[in-house]
Amino acid sequence: MNIILLGPPGAGKGTQATLLVESRGMVQLSTGDMLRAAVKAGTPIGLKAKAVMEAGELVSDEIVSGIIGEALDALPLETGVIFDGYPRTEAQAHSLDIILSERDRTLDHVIELEVDEDALVERITGRFTCATCGAGYHDKFKQPKVEGECDKCHGHDFKRRPDDNEATVRTRMAEYRAKTAPILPIYEARGIVSRVDGMSEMNEVTVAIAAILDGGSA
Ligand code: AMP
Repeated sequence: MNIILLGPPGAGKGTQATLLVESRGMVQLSTGDMLRAAVKAGTPIGLKAKAVMEAGELVSDEIVSGIIGEALDALPLETGVIFDGYPRTEAQAHSLDIILSERDRTLDHVIELEVDEDALVERITGRFTCATCGAGYHDKFKQPKVEGECDKCHGHDFKRRPDDNEATVRTRMAEYRAKTAPILPIYEARGIVSRVDGMSEMNEVTVAIAAILDGGSA
């Protein structure tokens, strides 16, 4: 099964993708994560992407579609994939069709997480992760049980994404509205879009997504 999780930044795509990886053995392909890794490693792609990402704008379609194709090539066909943060433009949606058909894969579901933008700004600007194991936290909603110590690995270093500040978040949302939301009709025409209330409790979102995947149809 291959699915796309769609929604503005902070809608919970990454969180839900991680849960699907744990519960179903699917693989999460997050272009944001892959680009951040490239920036950190200082690869040619990372050097190109860094400033664009810090401004909250979109990296070129060629770059992201290229890394998605390469990532898929490394996976066996039986492994289901969750596309998280890709596609983000109409050109990427068309590239994905080609990338999938070249690899005998089909797209089963597009799940849109619907959210309130102002609430998202609070969600995003407060989030941070453990620098050692990646566990996610939030200033207001999910502090570590022991202050300054990761619940999972007991590490003491935490980090924040450089693009999780309010000005950049607003730009990222504007990019979503202008360029990503318009790709939904492509998938609606195929009858594979489902919508989930991304503002409800995390567990409820997980249950709603599971119902869509297990229901067989959108
Ligand atoms: P994300 O982690 O999905 O919020 O992505 C962080 C940043 O990486 C975005 O604001 C973009 O600059 C870049 N990015 C991630 N995925 C894409 C994509 N599919 N197309 C273009 N830029 C992307």
